Amino acid sequence: SDEQPKKRIAVVTGAAAGLGQAIAHRLAESGMDVVLADLDTADETAALVDKAGGRAHSVICDVTSEASVAELATAAQDFGGCDVLVNNAGIYPFVLFEDLTFEMWRRILSTNLDSMFLTCKAFLPGMQTNGWGRVINLASNAYMNGADPMLAGYVSSKGGVIGLTRALASEYGAHGITVNAIAPGLTVTGTTIAAVGGRPGEAGAAKWGAMAALQAIKRTPTPADVVGAAAFLASEEAGFITAQTLVVDGGLARV
Ligand code: NAD
Repeated sequence: SDEQPKKRIAVVTGAAAGLGQAIAHRLAESGMDVVLADLDTADETAALVDKAGGRAHSVICDVTSEASVAELATAAQDFGGCDVLVNNAGIYPFVLFEDLTFEMWRRILSTNLDSMFLTCKAFLPGMQTNGWGRVINLASNAYMNGADPMLAGYVSSKGGVIGLTRALASEYGAHGITVNAIAPGLTVTGTTIAAVGGRPGEAGAAKWGAMAALQAIKRTPTPADVVGAAAFLASEEAGFITAQTLVVDGGLARV
């Protein structure tokens, strides 16, 4: 039909930097307005969304806090709602298990998994009322390839993310809501550059080349390599795809 599709609103957590920023920008290019939730101000992302023709609304939010996520939900409601939820905020400190304290373990699980419990609790009821919704959770190929040491908390949290994705898909499929995960490989962001110890090609940053060598496509991914998966899963045409984890890692993990 000639009917114009509804202008969708996306809520992206961890939208101030890295993959969250790139996904927010890409969803704006798909015609969405975007709520940018982050501990940090997301001015740079807001400018990108604006340039792409979307409305941006920045909300300072700690996704580990039930009260803070409740404030995010109110802010999103005032902005117009939430059709697409991208649970992207996450942390990945590299720590040997023998050095991993219970406090650090709890912080990783809280940031990477409890956060998704809270945002899904906050935003799924509205999607259910609308009879339409998309939830996209950031997992990681570190869960599948399993070869990376120093990530016990992280890999455990991402296994939980994939489990939550599958479980919620079962409960919300009848309401027009899809729930999927994206599992990127090691991708260049400010945080991964710091973690690896330099940019791809730089001395002391051999991990980039080592990862690329394991991939079928032997180059280091940037956020631009990942955003298409988010745009697709958020689209109308992906409405029959749910409970899946789309691995975007140049063919490293085989699932
Ligand atoms: P990043 O560190 O570049 O950006 C993360 C953003 O999340 C930051 O802006 C940070 O302020 C925000 N954030 C952190 N804790 C928060 C909290 N409690 N509340 C609100 N915001 C918070 O990270 P990234 O590399 O872009 O990774 C984003 C997501 O993608 C994470 O879930 C990560 O596990 C996943 N991932 C990344 C890679 C990679 O190589 N970059 C690979 C696989 C999966």
